[in-house]
Amino acid sequence: MSDADRLYHLPAARSEDQRAYMEGLEAAGVCVFCPEHFEAYHREPIAFSGEHWYVTENDYPYAGAAAHYLIVPHRHVISFDELPDEAGAELWAMKRRLREQLAPLATATVERSGDMRYNGGSVAHLHTHFVALKASPEATVRFKVSELGPDG
Ligand SMILES: [Zn+2]
Repeated sequence: MSDADRLYHLPAARSEDQRAYMEGLEAAGVCVFCPEHFEAYHREPIAFSGEHWYVTENDYPYAGAAAHYLIVPHRHVISFDELPDEAGAELWAMKRRLREQLAPLATATVERSGDMRYNGGSVAHLHTHFVALKASPEATVRFKVSELGPDG
């Protein structure tokens, strides 16, 4: 398997537990976000689903986030532009639904596309992070969107 075909980018794991989990899934050829594997391998259930996307809570929420959801396409794609424009409209509607559920908290989204060796991602299957933010978080919520530079 070439690096470009990998399902997971192990250096992007944020804990030893997560890294070990990703290593096992890579060895088994299991994409945790593909619908046929999701139920068996993802701890959090699907919160709601549409034609193009489903929504779940992140098994590995970012420190400091009041809530951390993932909006995941049913299709295994690695970049947003592999999906039709209608999927973009549905993504917007799902973000609106989450925002209404989480109000009055502020929210932020991050979506990495393409080669995860460069974009800071850990799972090849496209997913949009959707976090809710509170006034006094116990940690600053940080999204890495590149590989580590010399400044770490
Ligand atoms: Zn997948």
